[in-house]
Amino acid sequence: MSWFRRNKPESGPAMNVAGSAQAPTVPAPAPAAAANGASSAFLATMMDYPLTLQHVYNRARRLFPNREIVTATADGYERSTYGETFARVERLAGAIQALGVQRGDRVGTLAWNSTRHYELYFAIPCMGAVLHTLNLRLPASQLGFIIQDAADSVIFVDADLVPLLRGVKDSLGSVRHIVVMNGPVPDDVEGLPPVHDYEALLAAAPATFAWPELDEREPAAMCYTSGTTGNPKGVVYSHRSSFLHAFSVTQVDTVGLCERDTSFPLVPMFHVNAWGLPHAAAMVGSKLVFPGKFMDPTHTAQTIADEKVTLAAGVPTLWIGLLQVLDRRSDFDLSSLERIVCGGSAVPASLVRGLDAKGLTIIQAWGMTEMSPIGTVSRLKSSLQSLPFDDQVTYRAKQGIPVTGVDLRIVSLDTGEEAPWDGETFGEIQVRGPWITGSYYHGDNEEMGASKFADGWFRTGDVATIDADGYITIVDRTKDVIKSGGEWISSVQEEGLIMGNPMVLEAAVIGMPHPKWSERPVAVIVPKPEYKDTITKEDIIRHLEPQVAKFWLPDEVIFVDALAKTSVGKFDKKVMREQLKDQVHFEE
Ligand code: ADP
Repeated sequence: MSWFRRNKPESGPAMNVAGSAQAPTVPAPAPAAAANGASSAFLATMMDYPLTLQHVYNRARRLFPNREIVTATADGYERSTYGETFARVERLAGAIQALGVQRGDRVGTLAWNSTRHYELYFAIPCMGAVLHTLNLRLPASQLGFIIQDAADSVIFVDADLVPLLRGVKDSLGSVRHIVVMNGPVPDDVEGLPPVHDYEALLAAAPATFAWPELDEREPAAMCYTSGTTGNPKGVVYSHRSSFLHAFSVTQVDTVGLCERDTSFPLVPMFHVNAWGLPHAAAMVGSKLVFPGKFMDPTHTAQTIADEKVTLAAGVPTLWIGLLQVLDRRSDFDLSSLERIVCGGSAVPASLVRGLDAKGLTIIQAWGMTEMSPIGTVSRLKSSLQSLPFDDQVTYRAKQGIPVTGVDLRIVSLDTGEEAPWDGETFGEIQVRGPWITGSYYHGDNEEMGASKFADGWFRTGDVATIDADGYITIVDRTKDVIKSGGEWISSVQEEGLIMGNPMVLEAAVIGMPHPKWSERPVAVIVPKPEYKDTITKEDIIRHLEPQVAKFWLPDEVIFVDALAKTSVGKFDKKVMREQLKDQVHFEE
């Protein structure tokens, strides 16, 4: 069955999540019957206008031609506008078609965040192909697996990343062409499919392109889960889901992206479509700034100051790093930065406070690849805004309330019943909504996670509580939660508390097997450089003792220079657990 057909509903009512039909497709009664007050439901006759990225593209090109798009480079900044960029998108679509790409074909990108990558974000889906962003930090085995699994037809690659493709050349069977995006075609391309120069292809392509009429349910993009907890799994986003998710990013009570913003996605464009920011930016016409490969905290501060960024987005470690730079240097003017959107891992309360003290506001969001990714955002409801500062921080360190469009429930790990909204009972988060996947690419067989879908809900694998106001607090991933003597310990909460110690830069808490208690927590800590030689286990225990139950206190505290991180900058507990196996042996 072809890609295109598989993603179209076979028949019957439209499905938005596995097994759950949308509004019942009751046949519309004759107008006369409706007018007579007949009780059966009838369907409204609003236009069935497709929600596609073509609309976003056309609108931005028409309405915001002069709004800037900027990419940081080694020599400064490369400047363009929506007008110029989207004119190139039209040429690019022709160039891609000339390479033989057809509707539904997957087109890979292996690239830093840049204006050219942005061009592909529109050219590929708007011509009916599927934008498949490849994670440049994956080990070769996973990168190769993903390219093969998606059967990418063409791969666009940044010049400095060509060696990564060389490293997986045995997995490029489906790849007919490689296009180098920003520099001359390197010499050493032997064994690779034909390699082309991006600008040469563009120059040779016609200025206009006959855009196809797309069904909103056609695939627009795909990402693979970063495989923190197993093999990467493909998730395919439709035009409709991408459109609605981007729309959500523009809601005032979520990210609130708007035309007046200068947005700065530090979150890689290969990490769940940079959390929807690139498409949302065009939707509203915000200025866009891309970091290129310059993502270290000093460059980040410099770019925010230079370009007067108002909204930046990225995982917590980036902001922990920025805070360190700001502690050392006071010469960056970051006064333009109104908000930092942060997710991917829990935002420790100490980070909220630390940034606040520098006049910076961090807004936490939670989600995942399967959710496009945004599911919740932590903004203070009006009733919470008069709380004392400390209590406000407590709420801001929660993951927030479900955004419009996402239904969310917590299901008890013990009883399998829906948990009350009491802020205490915890269970697995389950979600459903128009930008949550109904299945993985390549089907729902057991290996691919059939058990992740239950009664029309997606089982996230995240454990959380939900309070009476609807704010969720992530306790853990089901795989990381620590069970000690029959009681649960939240590694995420414990990490957050440890990171509140002023001597600590980063901390991870891992459950290690224990013959008596089943598991006991072990803290792995990176001290701030100035405390490297003086910090002790007792400092950590003394700091935690007043804040947690005794059984939460870590049995072992190990100080290290750096924590293992995943390809998207999260603590890699799978790796840490392996490392600790040789180091930690509990006895009864
Ligand atoms: P992977 O699942 O492969 O790590 P994702 O980027 O999709 O890739 O990660 C999603 C996971 O990240 C979520 O399931 C959750 O465990 C974690 N996560 C995302 N946002 C937050 C957050 N704000 N707080 C705590 N955990 C988060």
